[in-house]
Amino acid sequence: MSEAFDFKTVGFIGLGAMGKPMLVHLANKLPSESQLYVFDVVEQVVDELRTKFPNRVLKASSARDVAQQTETIITMVPEGSHVRSVYLDPQKGVCSTDISNKLLIDCSTIDTATSLAVKDYIAENFPSASFYDSPVSGGVVGAVKGTIAFFLGCAEWDPNVKRLTHLMSLMGKQIIPCGGPSLGLAAKLSNNYLSGVIAIACSEAMDMGMRSGLDPRTLAKVYAAGTAQNTICDRFNPVPHVYPEAPSSKGYKEGFKVQLMRKDFALAVDMAKRVGSKNVLGGVGLETYDGASKDPRCRDLDSRVVYRYLGGQEDWQSHVNGS
Ligand code: NAD
Repeated sequence: MSEAFDFKTVGFIGLGAMGKPMLVHLANKLPSESQLYVFDVVEQVVDELRTKFPNRVLKASSARDVAQQTETIITMVPEGSHVRSVYLDPQKGVCSTDISNKLLIDCSTIDTATSLAVKDYIAENFPSASFYDSPVSGGVVGAVKGTIAFFLGCAEWDPNVKRLTHLMSLMGKQIIPCGGPSLGLAAKLSNNYLSGVIAIACSEAMDMGMRSGLDPRTLAKVYAAGTAQNTICDRFNPVPHVYPEAPSSKGYKEGFKVQLMRKDFALAVDMAKRVGSKNVLGGVGLETYDGASKDPRCRDLDSRVVYRYLGGQEDWQSHVNGS
């Protein structure tokens, strides 16, 4: 890194499946003098991190406390309501203290309206502070490996881009400025909509081919060679044991939870409505992920479990000659 940036104090709020491994990268890679102040409503995770990095990670008592101790703050919480309370709670929120000149980065996947409301509040009350949406893609495995992508809600020429890119490069591989406020989220939601639709279509196409007598590995080869080629089929195939590294081959574990896909899909469908985009697959897609996320056979598993939800055959190997 040629340019030196001063990240002496960094705050991190929300240390769940994604936030915790992201924080671990910062703790391992920031210069030794940097201090990390962390807060999560679940204290246990903070205590674990304190034990792992006793000289580096400090426990904050609230989001407000994080804001008082640090110059740069990253948030990674589940939904818009959590982002609202983390930033705007009048007693314990980030904005309940003076955040002038601070750099605030929200990596949560939420609705664009909430993100813009938080940004507007900050612009009005603390004009020298900078707030960015910067949702991520790449899942928990990517967060652990440090390979996630950041979709940054600003223009390429934004004065903070280099600084943001430097910090995010410690946690991920690609940082893509998407053009302006909330456009990181718009990009992320349209990406997850597309990925969710492809997973349903791939499940249906595999199922009809298999029921017609095809080996799913042959089907996957055909799609890869033909016009249906896509990453879901190649690397996240919903049919178990077509691609060994896919979550489906590991009991649909260690992937992107179906409830999160349901949440992102619903946010994408709302966004499409709001901007007047025709969205013929949105209704059936949402109904499918809604059903799968409530189904006890699918809940908490990788979203490609939609194949199971749609009645796809999982033990195909026992029926295929030579397997
Ligand atoms: P998670 O539920 O595992 O973690 C969220 C953390 O936020 C929890 O530890 C929770 O205690 C904490 N939290 C909630 N409200 C809080 C508050 N008011 N103050 C402080 N902490 C609070 O969720 P996750 O999987 O880490 O996802 C976080 C965000 O990242 C979501 O918006 C999700 O859609 C997005 N995302 C997740 C994945 C994934 O594969 N898990 C991938 C990309 C993006």
